Amino acid sequence: MLKPIFKKETFKKEVKDEIRRLFRTTLEEATNHQIYQAVCYVAKDVIIDNWMSTQQAMKEQDPKIVYYMSMEFLTGRYLGNNLLALTAYGEVKQALEEMNIDIDAIEDEERDPALGNGGLGRLAACFLDSLATLGYSAYGCGIRYHYGMFRQQIKDGYQIEQPDNWLEDGAYPFELKRPEYAKEIKFGGYVAVDVDKTTGREQFRQAGYQSVRAIPYDLPIVGYNNNVVNTLRIWDAEAINDFSLDSFDKGDYHKAVEQENLAHTLTEVLYPNDNHMAGKELRLRQQYFFVSASIQTAVQKYLRDHDDIRKLPEKAVFHMNDTHPTLTVPELMRILLDEQHLDWDEAWEVVQKSCAYTNHTIMSEALEKWPIELFSRLLPRIYQIVEEINRRFCDKLQKTYPQNADQKIRSMAIIYDGMVRMANLAIVGGFSVNGVAKLHTEILKKRELKDFYELWPEKFCNKTNGITQRRFLLHGNPLLADWVTNHVGSEWVTDLSRLSKLAVYADDEKAQAEFMNIKYKNKVRLAKYILENNGVEVDPRSIFDVQVKRLHEYKRQLLNILHVMYLYNKIKEHPELPFYPRTFIFGAKASAGYERAKKIIKLINNVAEVINNDTSIKGKIKVVFIEDYRVSNAEWIYAAADVSEQISTASKEASGTGNMKFMLNGALTLGTLDGANVEIVEEVGEENAFIFGLSADEVIEYEKNGGYDPMQYFNSDADIRNVLMQLINGRYSVGDMELFRDLYNSLLYPQGGNRADVYFILADFKAYAVAQERVSARYLHEEAWAKSAILNIAHAGKFSSDRTIEEYAKEIWKMDPITVRDENV
Ligand SMILES: *Cc1c(COP(=O)(O)O)cnc(C)c1O
Repeated sequence: MLKPIFKKETFKKEVKDEIRRLFRTTLEEATNHQIYQAVCYVAKDVIIDNWMSTQQAMKEQDPKIVYYMSMEFLTGRYLGNNLLALTAYGEVKQALEEMNIDIDAIEDEERDPALGNGGLGRLAACFLDSLATLGYSAYGCGIRYHYGMFRQQIKDGYQIEQPDNWLEDGAYPFELKRPEYAKEIKFGGYVAVDVDKTTGREQFRQAGYQSVRAIPYDLPIVGYNNNVVNTLRIWDAEAINDFSLDSFDKGDYHKAVEQENLAHTLTEVLYPNDNHMAGKELRLRQQYFFVSASIQTAVQKYLRDHDDIRKLPEKAVFHMNDTHPTLTVPELMRILLDEQHLDWDEAWEVVQKSCAYTNHTIMSEALEKWPIELFSRLLPRIYQIVEEINRRFCDKLQKTYPQNADQKIRSMAIIYDGMVRMANLAIVGGFSVNGVAKLHTEILKKRELKDFYELWPEKFCNKTNGITQRRFLLHGNPLLADWVTNHVGSEWVTDLSRLSKLAVYADDEKAQAEFMNIKYKNKVRLAKYILENNGVEVDPRSIFDVQVKRLHEYKRQLLNILHVMYLYNKIKEHPELPFYPRTFIFGAKASAGYERAKKIIKLINNVAEVINNDTSIKGKIKVVFIEDYRVSNAEWIYAAADVSEQISTASKEASGTGNMKFMLNGALTLGTLDGANVEIVEEVGEENAFIFGLSADEVIEYEKNGGYDPMQYFNSDADIRNVLMQLINGRYSVGDMELFRDLYNSLLYPQGGNRADVYFILADFKAYAVAQERVSARYLHEEAWAKSAILNIAHAGKFSSDRTIEEYAKEIWKMDPITVRDENV
C-alpha cells in the first residue's frame, strides 16, 4: 500500500523541505545531485519505519535467520528499486515531472555501489532482494570497500582503470552507520594457554596481537510490497586508538602506528579478480575481518534471546558464498570453544549443523589455498583449530578407507602439501554443498568432488542460480514490463512462473509486432547511450548481438571477435551477398593484472576501429565496446539485446546469470551447452535458441588426454588461417605485427605450461560460424524471431531468484518466512 508521504503533494513538499534542511537551498537552485539525495532521504524515512517493524516482527516471531556471507555484493543502484519495492515509483515519477524533473536523470545521479566483480556478487544481491520479498529473515554480511570495482575507461583501445570512489559524498544516502555494534578483530601474535585451576581445563587465547575495530554500516534491503526490510551489513575498519593493546604492549608506539595502518588498508579496495585467486595476505585479512565481525555479532544476537548456545543451529544458518568466507567454520568453532566453553564435540556439532557452502567454479586457478606459513602467522588460534579439524578428519579417512587412505587423504585433507585448502574445509565443516546449475553439480559429484560425494552423498545438492525480475525487467525494461502486465497481469513481479501464460501470444501477430516495437525502442535507448558515452553511431534496425560479462579466456570473447573478423573478410570478398546488418556489442572489465584479457579488449577495439570506418561495407557490421560495464548500464543493455552470446567453453561456466537476464528480456541465446544454458534450452526448447560446439563431456575427455591439436584446424581451414594470420600481419594494428602475437601463439602453441588453445576456440570456430548463420536466417523472418523471443520470456519463470531462494530456504536452510504488518493501516 502506498505510504501517505508518497502522495504527490506531500512528497513534493517533503523533497523541498529536505533540500532546505540538507543544503540550505531551494528546489529551483538545487542541483540534480542534491535533488537525488533529498529524494533518497524522503524514501529512507519510510524505509526506516519498515526496517524497525521488521526487527520488531523478528523479536516476536523468533524466526531462523540466514547469514549470507559474501565478500561481494554487486547491488547496483538502490533508489529506483527501493521506490518500486515501496510501490511508489509511479507516483514519485509523476510528482517529479510536475516539478519539471526527469526521474531518470535523478536516478542517474546515484553511483553504482560496485562492491563486487561480476556474477558471484550480483547473485548475492539478487538473493538479498528475493529473501526480503519472500519474507525470510536474512542478513547479508560483507565488506564496505572504500573503492569498489574500478571504473573502466578505454583510451586508444586500451583499458584504463580509474579508482571507483563510490563514497565521494562521504556516505551513501541509504546506509546507516552503527558504531554501537563495533567488534574487535585480532590478527597475528601467538596462542597463550592458561590452565583453569579448578577444572584443569586448558583455556586458549590470542596474545601479542594487532587489532582493528570493525564498524558495521547497514543498508536496507526492501522487500517488494510486503513491509519487510532486511539488512545488508557491510563492515568497515577503524583503528583502535585507545591503546587497548595487551598490557605487555602498552605504550608501544610502533605497534599503535601499525594498527592504524592495518585499519586503513584493510577495507580500502576490492580485489578485482573474477574466478581467480589473488593469494595476497591482505585478502586473507579481509576474509577473517568480515567473517569474525559477522559471526561474533550473530552469536551475540542469538544469546540475547536464547540461553543454550548448543541450539544455535535452530535459529541461525551461515551460508558461505564460495570459499571466500570459509573461515566461518573455524571462527565459529573458536567462539564456541574459547568464549562459550563448549567441549570440542559439542562445538563441532553446532558448527556442522549451521554452515553451508556454495561452490561456484571448478577451475583450478580459482581454488583457494593458503600457505600454512601465512595462515598460521596471521591467524594463530584459527590455524590451531583448523589443524585439529584436519587431524580428526584424516583419522576418520584412515578408518573409513583402510585400503586406500593415502589416496583419499591426498584428495580430501584440509591441510596438505604446505597449504590450507579452503574448499575442503568448507565441505568438511558444513552440512550442505551445492553447485549452481544442474550440469555444474553433476560435474562436482562425478569428478571434482567425487571423493567427498562418495563419503557424504547426502550433503550434496543443486540450486540453479536465478535473477531478480524486479531489477532486470520491472526496473530495467519498463516498456516490456508493462506489456507483460497487460497480457498476464502484474503477479509476475513476485511470481515469475506467471510468465508461462505469455506462450499463447507467441503466434499472435499483434503481440509479435508490439514486442518487436518495444525491442526497437529499447535499442534506440541503448543507441543513444552508446552515442553519448562511446561516440559510436549504431543503427537500432540492425541485429543487436551482445556479449557483456567479465573478460575471461574461458568466456571466449576472443571467439566472438575472431568470428567478427571472419565475417568482415566474407563481406569484403562477397559484397554482393545479402547480409542482415549486425551490431556486435561488447562490454567487459578485465582484472587489472590479467594481461591477455586486456589484450583481447584492445583487439576488440582495434577491430571496431577498422570495421566501423570502412564505408565500403555500407554499415553491414558495426562493433562497439561499451565502456565501464556495470549493473546500471547492464539493465539497459539486456533490454536492448536480440542475441545473447553465452559461448563459454563447455564445463567452464558454472551457471551464468547474464544468460537468464537476456532471456527474460526476450533475447535468443546463442550458446554452448554449458552452465545454466542447458536448463534454458530445456525450458524454451532447442528450436528457440542457437546451440553449438563441444559438449562438457567432450571437453573433459580431451582434457584428460592432454588436450587437442588446434594446428589441424589451422592447417585444414583457410578461413581460420586467414583470420589468425590477421593477428600477426598488422591488419588490425596499423602494421604492428607483435601487438597480438601472444593471442595468436596462445591459440596454436603450448604456452608457459599450458596447452595450446586451452579453451577450444579453434575446435568450436566453425560450429559457431554456422550457428551465427542460423541467427541471421531466423532474423529474416520477423514473425519467427518474435515468436521465439516471446517464448523465451514465457519460459523464463524458472530463472527467478525467488525460485532459487525458495529452494535454499526449504531444502538447505529449513526456514519459514515472517510477516510484517503495515503500520499505515
Ligand atoms: C549478471 C551480471 C554479471 C554476470 O554475467 P555472466 O554473463 O553470467 O557472466 C556480471 N556483471 C554484471 C554487471 C551483471 O549484471
